[in-house]
Amino acid sequence: MELLKQKIVNEGKALSDTVLKVDRFLNHQIDPQLMQEIGKEFASLFQESGITKILTLESSGIAPSVMTGLQLDVPVIFARKRKSLTLVENLYSANVYSFTKQETSEISISSDFITSEDTVLVIDDFLANGQAALGLIDLVKQAGAKIAGVGIVIEKAFQEGGSLIEEQGIRLESLAKIASLSKGNVTFEEEETI
Ligand code: 5GP
Repeated sequence: MELLKQKIVNEGKALSDTVLKVDRFLNHQIDPQLMQEIGKEFASLFQESGITKILTLESSGIAPSVMTGLQLDVPVIFARKRKSLTLVENLYSANVYSFTKQETSEISISSDFITSEDTVLVIDDFLANGQAALGLIDLVKQAGAKIAGVGIVIEKAFQEGGSLIEEQGIRLESLAKIASLSKGNVTFEEEETI
């Protein structure tokens, strides 16, 4: 997605060889126009998949997911990372090791919102080692629902998440695929260093 790649180049910052900071448009300040375009892109990629629900992880997955849900006219559920006083029973839960926080947290959704009747699109902001996406896939499986695929805004293709998802036979669509962040330069897959 060209617009997204331009945003990454113009406003993103490689903090190291493995971490990209995009808090000018995705992880802190949010660019609604860009989110709307992202929603349209995911919706057109998955429009034939019979999606009934979108599942994401709080908090940075919510904006692109809501825009996609608006386009596909389906509800969006976000898994919670922290225990909530109102989310105590009938939960599906999975343990997820966070790449950026370097700690394990339990993510949960209420069993009320995804059932065996659903076909679910999993969306997240970043794909690194795949732990967040695999945790979300696990929740969908616990609900007995079908997984239509995984939609990722920014995949760091030099980490193992992409292959772990595809090894499970699950469709993966990433709107920007980064081949390298070496020496502060963002290189997209099959493209020159910008
Ligand atoms: P994974 O679970 O695939 O290892 O990592 C994905 C999760 O970690 C995403 O939900 C995202 O919040 C965070 N993450 C991973 N890599 C990056 C990165 O380079 N930059 C930012 N901002 N977040 C990342």
